[in-house]
Amino acid sequence: MKKKQQSPMKFAVIMTVVVVFLIGALVVLNNQIKNASQNYDEKPSTEGQPILGDKNAAVTVTEFGDYKCPSCKQWTESVFPDLKKDYIDKGKINFSYINFVNEQHGRGSELSALASEQVWKEDPDSFWAFHEALFKAQPDNDTMENEWATPAKLADIAEAHTKVKGDKLVKSLNDKTFSEQLGTDESLISQYNVDSTPTIFVNGVKIDKPFDYDKIKEAIEKELKGNSDEK
Ligand code: CA
Repeated sequence: MKKKQQSPMKFAVIMTVVVVFLIGALVVLNNQIKNASQNYDEKPSTEGQPILGDKNAAVTVTEFGDYKCPSCKQWTESVFPDLKKDYIDKGKINFSYINFVNEQHGRGSELSALASEQVWKEDPDSFWAFHEALFKAQPDNDTMENEWATPAKLADIAEAHTKVKGDKLVKSLNDKTFSEQLGTDESLISQYNVDSTPTIFVNGVKIDKPFDYDKIKEAIEKELKGNSDEK
């Protein structure tokens, strides 16, 4: 039997198409793996972390934030109030805040994080007032060079909003008394592959665009529904 002659040119074209298709499929697969890795079965642990709202709520929204980060100020002042009104105050979800210390934001990043850990430990009822006051104290268009979050300034804010005494706070900041708590937060940062602030999780689901409140709502509704379906 005579074998049908294949044109080498035609073969080359077919092979090129196959290779391009395979590369494309690999890229798509890789992106899917990457996206899938943004979601986790478990929410970030709230053990030892400040919690706002009903501790037993089925859904937790977690923010990884930095008091020296301008976007975090913006998120706290623009997105957070809606989240609080629509979900936290109604007892549907609770909210947890994890410190993400970023040396690129200057010394104040760690100092303010340490101060917040101390307030959470020594006067938890005042934590959220202190938290909001810190973001309020951050100047608009904050820069790394602008070291507003000094021990003295943090002590003033603590005196104004909490029962923690200013001089005690300054001493603790100098001694880094609450650095162990920041270590716990660091473990969560690496466990959940957090690389920027603010990063928002709804239970174990990482929100791609933290400023898109509709997306946060969508994820919350999905988690609320998922939990009621399980019951
Ligand atoms: Ca913490």
